[in-house]
Amino acid sequence: MSADLLQLENFIAGQFTAPLGGRYLDSVDPSTGSAWARLPDSGADDVDAAVNSALNAFPSWSAKSAVARSQILDAIANQIEQHLDELAELESRDQGKPVWLARAVDIPRAVHNFRFFASANLHHLETATYQAEFSAQNWTIRTPVGVCGLISPWNLPLYLLTFKLAPCLAAGNTAVCKPSELTSVTAWRLCQLMTDAGLPAGVVNMVFGRGATAGEALVLHPNVPAVSFTGSTLIGSRIQALTAPMVKKLSLELGGKNAALVFSDCDLPAAVETCVRSSFTNQGEICLCTSRIFVERSVYNEFLRQFLEETAKWKVGDRRDPATKLGAVVSAEHRQKILSYIESAPASGGRILCGQTLTDAAKLPPDLASGFFVLPTVIVGAEADSDGGLSDEAPCMRDEIFGPVTCIVPFDDEAEAIKRANSVKYGLCATLFSRDASRIMRVCRQLQVGTVWSNCWLVRDLNMPFGGCKQSGIGREGAHDSLEFYTEVKTVCLRF
Ligand code: NAD
Repeated sequence: MSADLLQLENFIAGQFTAPLGGRYLDSVDPSTGSAWARLPDSGADDVDAAVNSALNAFPSWSAKSAVARSQILDAIANQIEQHLDELAELESRDQGKPVWLARAVDIPRAVHNFRFFASANLHHLETATYQAEFSAQNWTIRTPVGVCGLISPWNLPLYLLTFKLAPCLAAGNTAVCKPSELTSVTAWRLCQLMTDAGLPAGVVNMVFGRGATAGEALVLHPNVPAVSFTGSTLIGSRIQALTAPMVKKLSLELGGKNAALVFSDCDLPAAVETCVRSSFTNQGEICLCTSRIFVERSVYNEFLRQFLEETAKWKVGDRRDPATKLGAVVSAEHRQKILSYIESAPASGGRILCGQTLTDAAKLPPDLASGFFVLPTVIVGAEADSDGGLSDEAPCMRDEIFGPVTCIVPFDDEAEAIKRANSVKYGLCATLFSRDASRIMRVCRQLQVGTVWSNCWLVRDLNMPFGGCKQSGIGREGAHDSLEFYTEVKTVCLRF
């Protein structure tokens, strides 16, 4: 084992512990392609120890007052905030994103997650009714579910983990977390910060390792009645099938293939700026990124011209450079997957206007040669101005690529745009660009998605439900929805 590598351990019952099987995995820095950390390759025994620890901690944590739990959550938020620079550097190195992005978005959102749910749990509503004919008083109470399994992906590692963990803890549950094996470092660092904030031992346990082993042992564990999972549709549906016989509570936040609808009456430069941002932020590795842009034909050429001009400003480069807009994608395998979609686009009617074509690859700075970089790529139909070109069946229009690749196609009327936007199996989010309020109200009702942004993107309010329909998931997260998921509601009928 190289002494230079950062060594992660599981976090169980308040202690950092080596995996029982003694095996470790390398964690690779996507910007360099070299291993920089090692994480436990945990198995079912490690998961079992973590679940037992969470079970032991549950009675006293759930018995604490909401105010006492809220104070600890606030202290965790403060700890994360005090370590903003360190965590942003770790997140960037582990995931590939630019440091400034982690500093501006990922880590502040993790702080906000804890601060928001620290207070949200103090304001929850219970309902009461009185039935005069029976002299009966009814009301509902909410109790925590127990030990929750929290499984998170690699694209926004600390942000998405804490979006689960904060409401889970606020509601009085204890947790076993399984972060992505590709990006475990900030979750591991969080363990110490939570301890420093006064979180009692065993309330949060962290088991690192692969999905097929540690992840699956967690979702199948009989003492884990609720699983909150964010990741791919493939694995989400597998978890649903595996846990069906055990009738577990499931929250599934899955993939997307999100459309933007650009109408001719919009503020075009603003729509272009937003669509470039929504296509390429975080290297296109946000489940909410846009990857299909439908543009009304009368403004299509001008939109495309401005889009390409704006995209040219999105510099790919060193994650530490504040001018870098795109860092590296998360892994060599993921880069290969993205490139295969780009390379196969011409065979399905696509034309690559900029980005990772074979000639453009030479434009990558030589010092990034061993990193997993992909240039922001725009694909249009081979005959974009006619009705031919990129069909909804083309793989780049149909599948979630999860990289800096966006397709732009013209449309002729509102009904066609809605139909095409809805043509995929996913239903996570959509963006609309128009100045016509009645059109916006009409169109947003017809889009089969969990969130519609009009004339903006990624403006998030944790009070609002978040989640997807169709194969983008089951359930919603956000203030009420999260607290509902992490509690059981009980109706009590009292007669004296
Ligand atoms: P993934 O499904 O491969 O893995 C997600 C997590 O599940 C990881 O921690 C992984 O180790 C674990 N896992 C894998 N197999 C498992 C199994 N059999 N049992 C239990 N756990 C298992 O997804 P990913 O590649 O890490 O993330 C990218 C995907 O996540 C994309 O599809 C993206 O759209 C989606 N995503 C969705 C949202 C959302 O809110 N809807 C947010 C972010 C990412």
